[in-house]
Amino acid sequence: MKKIAILIMLYFLAYTFSPQLQTETKSLVQSKPVQEAVTQVSNYAADHGWSEIVQKMLGTTLQVVSGVSSDNPALEKSMRLLENHLQIRLHTLPPVNPSLKKEQASQTITLYAGDTGISDETLKSASSLITSDSLPIIQNNTNLNPKKETEVVLYSSPDLYGNALLKAGISSDEISAIVSQTGGITVDSAIWIPMYNLQGKDDLANVLTHELTHVTFNQAGIGTKLPLWLNEGVCWHNGLAAQEKVNSTRTNRIIKAMTANLKKTAQNGELLPLDQIDQSLLSASYNVEFQGYLATEQLIDKHGLDRFKAFLNQTQRQDVQRSFQQNFGQSLGEFEKEFTI
Ligand SMILES: [Zn+2]
Repeated sequence: MKKIAILIMLYFLAYTFSPQLQTETKSLVQSKPVQEAVTQVSNYAADHGWSEIVQKMLGTTLQVVSGVSSDNPALEKSMRLLENHLQIRLHTLPPVNPSLKKEQASQTITLYAGDTGISDETLKSASSLITSDSLPIIQNNTNLNPKKETEVVLYSSPDLYGNALLKAGISSDEISAIVSQTGGITVDSAIWIPMYNLQGKDDLANVLTHELTHVTFNQAGIGTKLPLWLNEGVCWHNGLAAQEKVNSTRTNRIIKAMTANLKKTAQNGELLPLDQIDQSLLSASYNVEFQGYLATEQLIDKHGLDRFKAFLNQTQRQDVQRSFQQNFGQSLGEFEKEFTI
């Protein structure tokens, strides 16, 4: 219990006080003894059925403190920071009100205005991005598409998005971090997008395509089979491809800046092994999803897109370890161990 109390205090301190204190507390939070304590507390909580409450309490705070956010926030503002965390915690999003304004993007995908601040033009623009960019890119890169009913809900303001999150069962003390930091949430076949967090049409193309790739994997039954780095890696691969179609200059700048950040992290010896990303998603000092993206790029570059699609296809029917070995000629574990930038 003492350990739990100290951890809570630490997070509270880091979350509440000055930037300097936050930086110092951040290194403390990332130190080995504290990380070991986090694991112990999480295990203890799981054993006693408190998993959800502890995860809620530690999760968001850790995310804010040790910031999946990078030192280049302007470029990364639109990148999805908390979505995995939310994917794990929420089992379902509340159903949309059928009287909301809507637009049919495809046979299976319906776009909704989550509040009255979303105009007809915004719905139409999102719809055309889905049909002209997202779906062709997802199909081309994975041989898959969302086959079941999928809903995409757009929100226009932090207040209205916050209200919707409250109704979805997220605790009020977490709302502000989520409202300001997320670019999108995906749960099964439902996507929520806070439009006010996006900088332009290219960001929207990225987020829509990224989240629809998650939905595609969920519906194909491979969302939880794929290791986190690879699942996020493909979503980033597709999201950035859609963004590039709308604004290639800005997209290339983002990729360059994020690659440089990650190289710096690697040079400092702080890069985590790929197979540890799942456990360290909340506490890593850098954007682990982008590491997954670079690893996925390496895999596609080395073996070709057709081989990669064959791997995804095979994973729908069998164990991911086996399909990885058969398609790429080495074990998943070996690749994860060998990967460097
Ligand atoms: Zn994602």
